[in-house]
Amino acid sequence: MSAKPHPEIPPPALRLSVDRAALAANWRALDAMSDRAATASAVKADAYGVGIHNAMPALLEAGCRDFYVAHWCEVVGALDHCDAASLAVLHGPVNAADCAYARATGVRPVLNSLQQVRIWLESGGGPCDLMVDTGMNRLGLRPEELGDPLVARLEVDVLMSHLACADEDSAANDHQRSAFAAILGTVPHHRASLANSAGIALGEAYRFDLTRPGLALYGGVPRHEMHGKLSQVVTPEAAILQVRHVPAGETVGYGGTYRATRDTAVGIVALGYADGYLRCWSDLGMLRSEGRKLPVIGRVSMDMTAIDLSAAPDLAEGDWVSVEYDLPSAAQKSGLSQYELLTVLGPRIRS
Ligand SMILES: *Cc1c(COP(=O)(O)O)cnc(C)c1O
Repeated sequence: MSAKPHPEIPPPALRLSVDRAALAANWRALDAMSDRAATASAVKADAYGVGIHNAMPALLEAGCRDFYVAHWCEVVGALDHCDAASLAVLHGPVNAADCAYARATGVRPVLNSLQQVRIWLESGGGPCDLMVDTGMNRLGLRPEELGDPLVARLEVDVLMSHLACADEDSAANDHQRSAFAAILGTVPHHRASLANSAGIALGEAYRFDLTRPGLALYGGVPRHEMHGKLSQVVTPEAAILQVRHVPAGETVGYGGTYRATRDTAVGIVALGYADGYLRCWSDLGMLRSEGRKLPVIGRVSMDMTAIDLSAAPDLAEGDWVSVEYDLPSAAQKSGLSQYELLTVLGPRIRS
């Protein structure tokens, strides 16, 4: 049987523009803000939707040597770029298969419970990170569990905790910081780590030996102290599939939520909610062409979005337009979090 060869696939009609130089500059800015602490990178969830193959080379070139993913299935993609000693898995080992995989790859598990400590030691132990819960009640051993004799048998590289409210001015931050400082003497470890992106801006007392930013690397601005120090990294871009001339009085899109008040040139763009440009942008979002504003009109469809081309009458089918996606302002406008705006971007747009 002769398999028919696949013809070459034509170029896509949508793409995520990733500014690797901005990503590297954001890491350097966070590393400078981290002062004497080293700066790791959270690259879980395909580097927050940016693409691990885009993010890790830029981060390594900038100087980053510590990386965190969440799932064991994310290890393979990360190991294409860094060695196993630079990588740890935040969810830790849930069963013997996870432990065996950690041992086979040499990647450190982050141990999050006494049960995880137990199965890690049963599998033979070795270098690991240890998460202590200082008030978030998500993952991590409670401080009172640290006296368990099993904990004393661990080879802890990074002893860590995670802040629940670092992007707010909350008394919880200082409570967590002092709870963390209080346990450092009780567990032998190489490095201590508390701060995520926002935590870096809370001050020197929060930085310890290693900071762990994610969001801010990718252009998110979690606290006002970081305004002006971080640059946008991702911009969704899409081609115009069709230009239509909508007469005054007619409506555009599902539900007819937009009605033209005058004869209007409308571009149908190859980007929709299946790509992560969610329906919340209906009659709200803004696209641009060379600085000219092209408002979204009507409802965002699964694969398409309509825009008003009045400001750019020269645009034609096949021309590319970009989505306004400055994360702090897009979050404010849409009601989505800056984290969601990044991670919601769908597989078709990931380059
Ligand atoms: C995701 C994550 C980070 C990064 O947090 P950001 O808020 O994106 O900077 C750091 N530490 C842990 C444990 C995480 O799960």
